[in-house]
Amino acid sequence: MKRDSIIKEKEKKFMSKYSHFPEGKFITVVVAREAESECIFRTEGSGEGLNKERVSLGIKEDKKDFRAVISKRKQSAVERRTGREFLRLNNLLFTNKDNKACALNKNTPCGKCLDCMLNGYAVGDGGAQKSRIIYDNAYSILPFNMVTDVKTFNALYDNGTMRDEEGKASSSINEDEYIKPGTVFVDMITFKDVTFTEFIYGLSNILRSKRYGAISSRIGKMKNTILKVAFSDCELFSNLELTQSIYDKLNEESQIEFPLNINKVREYAEQSFEDLKKEVYGNITELNGDELRDLLEYIKSIFKEEGEEQAAALFKEQSEQYGD
Ligand SMILES: [Zn+2]
Repeated sequence: MKRDSIIKEKEKKFMSKYSHFPEGKFITVVVAREAESECIFRTEGSGEGLNKERVSLGIKEDKKDFRAVISKRKQSAVERRTGREFLRLNNLLFTNKDNKACALNKNTPCGKCLDCMLNGYAVGDGGAQKSRIIYDNAYSILPFNMVTDVKTFNALYDNGTMRDEEGKASSSINEDEYIKPGTVFVDMITFKDVTFTEFIYGLSNILRSKRYGAISSRIGKMKNTILKVAFSDCELFSNLELTQSIYDKLNEESQIEFPLNINKVREYAEQSFEDLKKEVYGNITELNGDELRDLLEYIKSIFKEEGEEQAAALFKEQSEQYGD
């Protein structure tokens, strides 16, 4: 499969090359994020519990309750890390002007690689690029109480066991709230003024990210499914509205139960998108089912050795364009 057969008449929805001048070409990707293990999403180092927000459960059903939240920071940090690992493996992260390797945690972005240019960077001396991938907090469809549980465990000693050096058992008990496996979050990620290759890079990072917990932990496994790709000339509605609209439909059909039926979620997400789309003042075109399947197959193929086109080659070609 080749790039040209994927883009076809959608070519004008992408930038032909990177430009400093925005054209208002938006691409919205709707993602279902499904927890496949226990997950803990909280503001690191805050000592607080799980991230949650009190909101209306539905648009029609205006009862207020808490929903579990995956912060936009968390999503973007994990997905960027996935992308940057691939770029690093293929020598596509560069060095900054002090000859330091491109690294986010050391505050030495190179400002030239695909990731810096797409996801944004800022350096002290004024060099900066705004992110062209807009993340928003993702909400659990069901209320917080239905998707979380608490477990108690004995705190581990420094040696990683439940016993100290003298063999005495740990007596301190910790409690931890966690998100239950099977919890579904709905998310919309917006790309703005991107080339086809930049879009493929960003989308592949969503598809290739599997773990949203701390790097060393065994928890936080998530499965991301792309439900929709829509092109528009303005931003659409919010994640929260889409989540609320799906909740309303489940509620009308008395299907508020844990775990949710993922096929129902897909079906209602599709209907909710159609409903909310009517309120938007803008031009929206979507990929149909076949086109979306082809796009996902194409992405799969470029990460395989025998693919006709190769992700690393495409990303290299893209990063060479930035210097022009
Ligand atoms: Zn860089």
